[in-house]
Amino acid sequence: MPGTRDHLATAEVLAGEALAFLRDHQYDMAQVYRDHSDLYLRLAHARHELIGADAPPPREPIVLPPWCGECDGPDLQRRWTSSEKDDGLYRCRSCNPYALSPEDASEVTSS
Ligand SMILES: [Zn+2]
Repeated sequence: MPGTRDHLATAEVLAGEALAFLRDHQYDMAQVYRDHSDLYLRLAHARHELIGADAPPPREPIVLPPWCGECDGPDLQRRWTSSEKDDGLYRCRSCNPYALSPEDASEVTSS
């Protein structure tokens, strides 16, 4: 399904065509293209009102740094370490790209 940006791009192309017909003194054709351009502008506006902005482009896949060899395993979901001090489980600060600073202790899950 076309998104808001697609409708806006179509409206722009149609407006350009309308302008070309206008310059060529083909007023009826200019009116047809102008009306079509207006329709796509309304579609883009309505879509934005109902759905919001188009979905952001997909995120780049995360590149894992080399496994440190100290935490539970090389897979991302195993890059956790436990702490004897507070019996917590933490993302490995050596090799987990989502590792949190100690201040973000709310992410800690007890084991
Ligand atoms: Zn690690």
